[in-house]
Amino acid sequence: MHSREPGRRIDEMLAKLREREFRITPQRLAILKILAASEGHPSVDDIYREVKAEFPTTSLATVYKTVSLLKELNEALELSFPDGSNRYDGNNPAPHPHAICVKCKRIMDPELMNIDALTEEMSRKTGYKIFYHELEFFGLCPECQKKN
Ligand code: MN
Ligand code: ZN
Repeated sequence: MHSREPGRRIDEMLAKLREREFRITPQRLAILKILAASEGHPSVDDIYREVKAEFPTTSLATVYKTVSLLKELNEALELSFPDGSNRYDGNNPAPHPHAICVKCKRIMDPELMNIDALTEEMSRKTGYKIFYHELEFFGLCPECQKKN
């Protein structure tokens, strides 16, 4: 699904964070590792639970702060939902479409062929200069379809 090398993503995140003189503690590095892989598009709680297993003294505030800063630096993409259950993609921080299962909340993001063409068409038909998009497709994932 993801084409980006998590190791390289960590290096990119670290470079941006160092520009901000953000101190990299072992806990924060663990947060970066989880975001760089972004297996399943984790929530802050998912990240917190995983980091806490390795570093029990980690606070939820540290996770929030690190994730927020990476989002601000365009090093993590936020998928926001009306109920506040936001999820994050630090593996591919560029805008890209997601398929979201309404039942189990599994999120997938295969590479689609026509996104550039769609963006161009939108720009051509509206005269807008397009900066980014948020494309979310909602439905039932294959696993949940089997259970129905
Ligand atoms: Mn994604
Ligand atoms: Zn599902």
